[in-house]
Amino acid sequence: MTLVYCGHCGQELTDGDHESCGTALSLEPPRYCDQCRRRMVVQVHPMGWTARCSVHGEIHG
Ligand SMILES: [Zn+2]
Ligand SMILES: [Zn+2]
Repeated sequence: MTLVYCGHCGQELTDGDHESCGTALSLEPPRYCDQCRRRMVVQVHPMGWTARCSVHGEIHG
């Protein structure tokens, strides 16, 4: 799959510089689905995190 949107700020990855977003995403869950830009439902737990898009399902950190 091709990533379209930045999971941190929700802007298109081709629009601007997302280097700092990439750094943030290595530390915390994404806020936006990288396929459709929907807000992710994020649950943080002791072993990591789960972020869920209503269309694209869950990803785990
Ligand atoms: Zn970004
Ligand atoms: Zn999605």
